[in-house]
Amino acid sequence: MAKEYRTIRNDVALPYQWALGKTWTRFFDGLKEEQIWGTKCTHCSRTYVPARTFCPDCFTDRTEWVPVKPEGKIVSWTLVKATYHGQVKPPPYIIALIQLSGTDCGFHHFIGGVETENIKKLRQKLKKGAKVKAVWNPEKKADIYDIAYFAPVK
Ligand SMILES: [Zn+2]
Repeated sequence: MAKEYRTIRNDVALPYQWALGKTWTRFFDGLKEEQIWGTKCTHCSRTYVPARTFCPDCFTDRTEWVPVKPEGKIVSWTLVKATYHGQVKPPPYIIALIQLSGTDCGFHHFIGGVETENIKKLRQKLKKGAKVKAVWNPEKKADIYDIAYFAPVK
């Protein structure tokens, strides 16, 4: 018979900073100018956003910078209603995996400009493959939130 142990809940906060390096610095500086930069592998021709220092498929660092249009299609999404430690904004909000046009990977960001109360309407509006476009934050800080969210294209 397994012994039962008493437990208590304890949350651990772990704030940290990390150096962006050349690649991420250029990527975020691009967002400040309303430009999304990706890197295209010169070996397999796959394009990744955010930009990468190497191709995750070939593991080569032979990549070139390519401008990426601020639009794409929804791959999947979820409506976040629960609160948890470290959230960047209060729920409800929608986080989505978006494939930007001309890229070969998913890009996580918020979906905005939609009502979140009616899940049936959301499912109609945010079907897999639905087109979305970046809505830029009027105040830029050279970070991922320079894109406020992606909105469905009508
Ligand atoms: Zn490659």
